[in-house]
Amino acid sequence: MCRHAMDTLVFFLIFVMSKMVLSTNLSRHNGGQLVELSSIYCLSWKLATETNNIHGWRTVPIQCLCHVEAYMIGGQYDSDMKLIVDEINSYIDELVLSGDGKDAWILDVDETCLSNLYYFKGKRFGGDPYDPQAFKEWALRGISPVIPSILGLFRKLVESGFKVFLITGRDETTFGQATLHNLHLQGFFGFQRLILRSEAYRGQSSMVYKSEIRRKLVEEGYRIWGNVGDQWSDLHGQFVGNRTFKLPNPMYFVPGLTEGNCRSGDGEAKEADRDSGAKLEGSGWIIRFSDGGSTGHSQHQSRDCLGFGFTSVSPRSTF
Ligand SMILES: [Mg+2]
Repeated sequence: MCRHAMDTLVFFLIFVMSKMVLSTNLSRHNGGQLVELSSIYCLSWKLATETNNIHGWRTVPIQCLCHVEAYMIGGQYDSDMKLIVDEINSYIDELVLSGDGKDAWILDVDETCLSNLYYFKGKRFGGDPYDPQAFKEWALRGISPVIPSILGLFRKLVESGFKVFLITGRDETTFGQATLHNLHLQGFFGFQRLILRSEAYRGQSSMVYKSEIRRKLVEEGYRIWGNVGDQWSDLHGQFVGNRTFKLPNPMYFVPGLTEGNCRSGDGEAKEADRDSGAKLEGSGWIIRFSDGGSTGHSQHQSRDCLGFGFTSVSPRSTF
């Protein structure tokens, strides 16, 4: 009797253990499938945003936060930037400049010349909504690092005889000195002009503002051979140049005028209001201003998607 009871107990334990192992394997399998499905979706999402098929997005989808983080700091972003710059260099090598000092090239600033990646680490790489006050504090520090491949391109452009114009949506009064200092600090010397958004362009969309600046350059006699930026609003509109090159940026979206209902009640596009607190929601514009709770430094303990832990204080901007 006792032996029978022992046999029954052993059989029961074996049964329970086998179920536990099977359950664990199924769980791992399902988890892997979930990760794989999420990764597939996020690749599709990123492609759609980079090709401007998805626009007007406000934050990175929560299931793609780790995907974007891995993309930005895991090497793929650097590789993509290098490949694009290689293509630009090939294009430049084919050009024959006039030598009259009117061959021009346009570069955007944020996420083109300068990287705000350290700031966005504290904003979950675009997972958090736009925080104008925090970005302002970051940008005024003037410590955004250079994007090395673009600095190499910039130097080649200058050495080749191009007049390089740096055009940014940053507000001139607020960010002028800090931006110039930051660019110099990171090795950008010899550009023809740094153009920031002056009072006259406040309230205009990024696309309209930058088109207007380019129009004035063309009226001055410049030939725009190339135009490089991380936002479609850098590259759409008028006088865009002979060729445009879109750099990757899955962390944030700056609207142009093509974003459907991007008009406020007074009929003016309000892209520039992002500088003072406007936010984009859904497919249209909703102008809101930050309350006290969303301003100031926001210290954030970030996830650890790639095994890098960090705590950072930081920004997100307009441009
Ligand atoms: Mg930019």
